Amino acid sequence: MLKLQVVAPVIFRVAIQIPVYRVFDYLAPADIDLKAISPGARLEVPFGKAKKIAYLLEITQRSDIDINKLKSVLRVLDRRSLLSAKDLSLLQWASGYYHYPIGEVISTAFPIALRQGKPAVLKFEKYYCLTDSGKSTDSNELKRTPKQKRLIDKFQAMDGECLSESELAEWNSNWRSTVNSLINNGLLVQCDVNTRNVNSNVVIRNPALTCNPQQQDAIDKVCAQLGSFKTFLLEGVTGSGKTEVYLQIIQTVLEQNLQVLVLVPEITLTPQLEERFKHRFSVNIAVSHSKLTDKQRQTAWLQMQTGQCSIMLGTRSALFTPLKRPGLIILDEEHDGSFKQQEGFRFSARDVALVRAKLLAIPVVLGSATPSLESLHNVQRQRYELLHLPERAGNSVEPVLQLLDVRNKSIQEGLSEPLIAEMHKTLANKEQVLLFLNRRGFAPTLICHSCGWVAKCLRCDANLVIHFDEDRLRCHHCAQEHRLLKQCPDCKGGQLMPLGLGTERVERVLVDLFKGKVTVRLDRDTTQRKGVLENYLQQINTGTVDIILGTQMLAKGHHFPNVTLVAILDVDAGLFSIDFHASEKLAQMIIQVSGRAGRADKSGKVIMQTRQPDHPLLNTLITQGYNSFAKTVLEERKVADLPPFGYQALLRVQAFEPDAPKLFFQAIADLIHKFNTGHTLVLGPVAAPMAKRSGQYRYQMLFQNTQRTQLQAFLKMFVPELTQLKQAKKVRWSLDVDPVDLY
Ligand code: ADP
Ligand code: ZN
Ligand code: ZN
Repeated sequence: MLKLQVVAPVIFRVAIQIPVYRVFDYLAPADIDLKAISPGARLEVPFGKAKKIAYLLEITQRSDIDINKLKSVLRVLDRRSLLSAKDLSLLQWASGYYHYPIGEVISTAFPIALRQGKPAVLKFEKYYCLTDSGKSTDSNELKRTPKQKRLIDKFQAMDGECLSESELAEWNSNWRSTVNSLINNGLLVQCDVNTRNVNSNVVIRNPALTCNPQQQDAIDKVCAQLGSFKTFLLEGVTGSGKTEVYLQIIQTVLEQNLQVLVLVPEITLTPQLEERFKHRFSVNIAVSHSKLTDKQRQTAWLQMQTGQCSIMLGTRSALFTPLKRPGLIILDEEHDGSFKQQEGFRFSARDVALVRAKLLAIPVVLGSATPSLESLHNVQRQRYELLHLPERAGNSVEPVLQLLDVRNKSIQEGLSEPLIAEMHKTLANKEQVLLFLNRRGFAPTLICHSCGWVAKCLRCDANLVIHFDEDRLRCHHCAQEHRLLKQCPDCKGGQLMPLGLGTERVERVLVDLFKGKVTVRLDRDTTQRKGVLENYLQQINTGTVDIILGTQMLAKGHHFPNVTLVAILDVDAGLFSIDFHASEKLAQMIIQVSGRAGRADKSGKVIMQTRQPDHPLLNTLITQGYNSFAKTVLEERKVADLPPFGYQALLRVQAFEPDAPKLFFQAIADLIHKFNTGHTLVLGPVAAPMAKRSGQYRYQMLFQNTQRTQLQAFLKMFVPELTQLKQAKKVRWSLDVDPVDLY
């Protein structure tokens, strides 16, 4: 007799990396062993006429779609998910909170090759170390082969430690020929084991410093919380010893054989930090940032995932790196805007780090000299514990801040007489001067002296910036550029004049004003090529540079011990903005730039040139400090229900077709009306502050609510419906939850 057995089909619910707000059902492969597969595993599935990589979310037996219409999974790429169940739920949470498609969110957690379905194998790394004669050789004998000399110096400085292929590749992309020559000369050998892993209890290469009581208190408090979730805000001015606190907490975490994730705003700007970690710890350290190759980043990712590395030092995108033995997350310079992704999946690495730490039951340390107002508010609400380092470590003194009223004073290319005099005095003492101007190029405007014509970008609402060095006019908002015009194209006769001030222009006047002094200019134009910045930094630190001139690049992370005078050439530029975040950012910038001065035992002075010497905000900051400033601004925000007292989401819309945004906003008006039951304030639509950019017309609409849950409930209903509108397909739109700038 024929026995019929009804077997319920096994269905894989998956996310696919495409911009749609839904998941997809497929039939599981017939031969699948369900015990051998877990959510998060990568699959290959048929999609339309193509194959796509998918991520398994759920194994189920029911589908809203007719089973007979479901296609089958083609291939299972990972038997075990590379992500832990907690990390997968973190990504699902983030997709919901930022209202961004789940497939795209999950794929951002993976390195590029893994997103494309390549196998997740960590290739076996070779290690190299010095031979006995390599240890005793005098590297000066290798003077004629400078790369070999530098590599021997590097090895010798490491006391018999070995270096891996990936570390060597990071040192120099053509490391292999150098290593081979040194092997042939009997100075290096390939070693069988990674000597650093032999004894995993020893994590320290060089001993820690003796802490001051505040540092010790901070370290003790965090270490007491290892193994459970808690957020700490480590507040301390630059030079107060925050990094030393991180290092000592990390030491304890490593001794428990756990891993640490350290996020920094811009790792390429802080090679010193990496050096300091490598100097202190003998464990394997993975580094991940955008200047590395895809392969290097994938290696770093897998080294953390498999537990071979114990520390990851990375930028925002490293946040989702899987950790085999999670122990601690540190976010340095937590106020920095670059922790917020500004395109695509617009997540805040700081906020998501907290959610991650909570899921993993580990502590988070947020560090800054100028904490974000959100974080200070969270301290006030006792959500975070404040750890305060009030003084600079060692003997150094905090710099003195002063406003310099430049109204009616003689000014040469942005430098007032009194400032020039101060600079001469500082330089005469053989100390360094740092000049900050947050505008690169020669001048922001080219104007005709006879007819008033201004060189504008044809595709943006913006003026073209003069770049004399390269003989170019450039738009800083799109790729437009031209040869520098010599004659007015409008009246054909008039003389063209540069208007305003950029770093290039200041650099030229410095040459005339300070004869024989060496100036370096650090901005995006001068430091684009790899290694240039490192080179300049080294020149600065060895004292061959007198004047350092630069943009915001100077505000981040660098230590310039011999700088005793800092001047902010145009502090007023930050005072007038329609974005309520601007005052916070300006104050942070001022304090951060000031922090570069007067380290070591030399006291520093910070001069801010202004035409608004009575500006209340500047005065609060200078006379009462950053915290009083922050209190004042928080009170203002409270009155206006602005973040962190209210919650915002910004809908940005742009299109080449001028009418398309208008039609889009008309179409969503009904949806907003239908779903906005929780009194979400709807502001706009209005033209964006830069109403045209790269040829597209730009508009925006702001949603605001004092209750986060109400705003989220509204967005949750609104966004999926919005995606279905045909008018939405005629524009480019994006939703930015908790925007950090309103542009
Ligand atoms: P931050 O990260 O706050 O800028 P760092 O940790 O880099 O501060 O410390 C600034 C300088 O002070 C560094 O040169 C560091 O080596 C030194 N330093 C930090 N803590 C101590 C300490 N307890 N004793 C002596 N020097 C210290
Ligand atoms: Zn003209
Ligand atoms: Zn442009």
